[in-house]
Amino acid sequence: MNQLITGIHHVTAIAGSAQKNIDFYSGILGLRLVKKTVNFDAPEVYHFYYGDESGNPGSILTFFPYEGLVNGRHGKGMLNTTTFSVNLSSMDYWSERFKKLGIAFKKPVERFGEETVIYFEDTDGLGLEFVFNDRDQRPGYSNGIIPVEHSIKGFYNVEIWEEGYERTAGLLTEQLDHRLIGEKGNRFRFAATNTPGNYVDIICSPDSMKGLAGSGTVHHIAFATPNRETQLEMRLRIVKRMLNPTPVLDRNYFTSIYFREPGGVLFEVATSGPGFAIDEPKEHLGEALQLPKQFESQRTELEKILTPINFNPGEYQ
Ligand code: ZN
Repeated sequence: MNQLITGIHHVTAIAGSAQKNIDFYSGILGLRLVKKTVNFDAPEVYHFYYGDESGNPGSILTFFPYEGLVNGRHGKGMLNTTTFSVNLSSMDYWSERFKKLGIAFKKPVERFGEETVIYFEDTDGLGLEFVFNDRDQRPGYSNGIIPVEHSIKGFYNVEIWEEGYERTAGLLTEQLDHRLIGEKGNRFRFAATNTPGNYVDIICSPDSMKGLAGSGTVHHIAFATPNRETQLEMRLRIVKRMLNPTPVLDRNYFTSIYFREPGGVLFEVATSGPGFAIDEPKEHLGEALQLPKQFESQRTELEKILTPINFNPGEYQ
């Protein structure tokens, strides 16, 4: 059967401060801000995209920062942890860096025998991890702050908590081209492509409370599909599964459909292209506020509403 989903495209989360968000992800973690735009459904709110040099699928973490929004709560029916991939030899570098910058992290744990994992949170409480591993062939990218050999290569996996895993697993394997590739305790690992950046872990956690949206929580996860034709084929599969997908929406850098999976997490299927270099040169990604055509006439007003942000990489060396 034709594979319509190739892996993870991006994860989108909610933040409480645009400035703190950029300080954390560009400054402390050293990700590249590949796009500074607005939420296409609420243009008075920024939409920041962070990723590797080009913002390749499997590396893109995006945020809607709502100034002063109250914290949400991690729990079931939610994607609670987004895990980044870094070299095995970078463990000392990151633990020293986190200590120096006052970022708390949990004691390293082993996962599936070959991964060393530390858990930490951003300034809003968003769940993050580093997986230190030797399996990831992606080069990483240095934005001038983190040496490239220690830089984040992209995602490793994501972790979704569910009341039970079966219905979500059914959707992943029957419609979304995933396979079960690992299982330990209450963790079930699925992937469309068996490489770091594409692992979706379902944690069976019937006893946890239900997640509540707010800052520090994930809004949705997007899976990558090669092009518009495969996206339409995928849409048909979702319709047949009675999950009411949205029509195809133009997000400028990709097109998208959205639907809610049976456990409550919002899923998106996004095209791998055209990518972030369609409205600004690759060397200058993320530097200027980019607006889609429909909001360009409101640029002056929007620039007045959006909190000004500045970023000084020198503070994070
Ligand atoms: Zn999205």
